[in-house]
Amino acid sequence: MSGTPAAAPNPNDPVTVAIIGSGPAAWTAAIYAARANLDPVVFEGEGSREMIPGGQLMFTTDIENFPGFPEGIGGIEIMQKMKDQAVRFGTRVVSENIVSVDFSSRPFLLRPSHAEPVRAQAVIVATGARAVWLGLDNEMRLAQTGGGVSACAVCDGALPLFRNKVLAVVGGGDSAMEESTYLTKFASEVVVIHRRDELRASKVMADRALSNPKIRFAWNSEVIEVLGDDAITGVRLRDTVTGAERELEVGGLFVAIGHKPNTDFLGGQLSLSPHGYILTPTPWRTTTSVPGVFAAGDVIDDYYRQAVTSAGTGCMAALDAERWLAHEHVGDAVSPVLETAESSVGRASGD
Ligand SMILES: Cc1cc2nc3c(=O)[nH]c(=O)nc-3n(C[C@H](O)[C@H](O)[C@H](O)COP(=O)(O)OP(=O)(O)OC[C@H]3O[C@@H](n4cnc5c(N)ncnc54)[C@H](O)[C@@H]3O)c2cc1C
Repeated sequence: MSGTPAAAPNPNDPVTVAIIGSGPAAWTAAIYAARANLDPVVFEGEGSREMIPGGQLMFTTDIENFPGFPEGIGGIEIMQKMKDQAVRFGTRVVSENIVSVDFSSRPFLLRPSHAEPVRAQAVIVATGARAVWLGLDNEMRLAQTGGGVSACAVCDGALPLFRNKVLAVVGGGDSAMEESTYLTKFASEVVVIHRRDELRASKVMADRALSNPKIRFAWNSEVIEVLGDDAITGVRLRDTVTGAERELEVGGLFVAIGHKPNTDFLGGQLSLSPHGYILTPTPWRTTTSVPGVFAAGDVIDDYYRQAVTSAGTGCMAALDAERWLAHEHVGDAVSPVLETAESSVGRASGD
């Protein structure tokens, strides 16, 4: 993403709030932290095949469900706007990954991929969860050019290009069943492509899909090629038992083979769920197992996985960090918003 000011923090001078990540959660946290004079530094990451600074929305074209854009907006454009808004209020941006952390003492230590280690009084982890793709060349190209390949049915299924088409869903778990069932609202037919001859999904989800007259199953099949130039026209399948290959004509492909939260770099220093998501045990708070470390966005959420929910928890993380810092006597006083909320709770309860 463009517009990155060169501003590597001084290693000897702890930053107040370091934000790791660059999706809707990270930029929203940065906007709130910057406007609260917490001088945030965002480590936005580096580009790779699976991750781009700007997050998951960089892999899609039309966003039609983010409030405030009645005509829709491109994924790259909305992320640039979020970043611009954060930078406008003074956010410093470092275009590097954080490769490891030390949360055992304060200020916390963050190690970027190239720059000197940085210390931070508070940290917000907003590194997202990457959709697992098949890893086929044409798959990624068509996903990024609006060519009918996606990893999110709830996000993209209602787009005009998928209406009344035969749509393929790859996967055999709960997500694949949910996405297939959801897509029957728009598709003429949904074909679930699964490598085995039975589903991994829970019985209730599997039964719902199996009994849906608009869903059929391509069992023992794996996608070995995505076909089409400007838009997908079909997929080449290989039978996992016989090895035989065939083509299946489709007007859209949804990959639903899982998500991987970006938490490896934490080295087990925060409590994680069995699937690697950061645990935030207190309801409606973004606090993690380490006081002073907060988490937001898809890295804490294996359920909603939307830009607007990520932005929402990014806001919460910045407000939680601000309150914690005030409590620890670091940085500016507690935000007026939080004081108002607290005092109104006190008034309502008669305290
Ligand atoms: C194809 C597709 C289409 C979608 N369409 C929509 C849609 O239309 N509407 C909608 O609401 N949602 C949509 N989503 C979901 C949405 O993109 C996510 O819910 C949202 O982007 C999550 O935001 P996030 O801030 O938690 O993290 P992400 O967007 O995942 O961003 C996190 C980023 O942080 C960076 N990062 C990761 N690790 C590190 C590290 N160690 N150091 C530094 N940086 C790091 C990476 O660049 C990573 O991409 C779509 C998702 C996909 C895959």
